Amino acid sequence: ARPVVAIVGRPNVGKSTIFNRIIGDRLAIVEDKPGITRDRIYGIGEWNGKSFSIIDTGGIELDDQEPILKSIRMQAELAIEEADVIVFMCDAKDGVTGSDEEVANLLYRSGKPIVLSVNKVDNLGRMDNIYEFYNLGFGEPIAVSGSHGTGVGDLLDEIVNKL
Ligand code: GDP
Ligand code: MG
Repeated sequence: ARPVVAIVGRPNVGKSTIFNRIIGDRLAIVEDKPGITRDRIYGIGEWNGKSFSIIDTGGIELDDQEPILKSIRMQAELAIEEADVIVFMCDAKDGVTGSDEEVANLLYRSGKPIVLSVNKVDNLGRMDNIYEFYNLGFGEPIAVSGSHGTGVGDLLDEIVNKL
């Protein structure tokens, strides 16, 4: 079986955009589990001759109308269970938020390999915004722009290095 990569992060940071960039058209069809819609969230990634399954955890629809923080936490917990490597996605426009710190704590305790990535670095001026993300404790953040596709190769390098 392929190793599993999961993309985790609060809503609107660009998880689905990066997921789509990584899978291209290699969407995987997976049967839904009761209570969890898994449609459109599994794909296949390929990079440097390595193949992996990738999950967009933000697309996991939970049964109840959970409060937002609780659903981010549940998605992160599912990712921790299933994934070999976790991509923790943040947003350079918003900076580090309280929800990011919550997710960071969960991920930190998981002991799983984490790749920290900061999306929406659409221009060089925004590179200044990425330094505060070092404070999350996962080392150097990988700057990406889902809109332009920049940095996605660096992110994939880091992912397959940790597989
Ligand atoms: P998700 O909720 O984490 O899956 O985030 P989405 O992928 O749905 O993106 C949320 C919003 O951010 C959408 O309006 C995207 O068009 C926008 N977005 C995604 N990537 C970028 C980016 O690199 N730069 C900018 N400026 N906007 C982006
Ligand atoms: Mg999404």
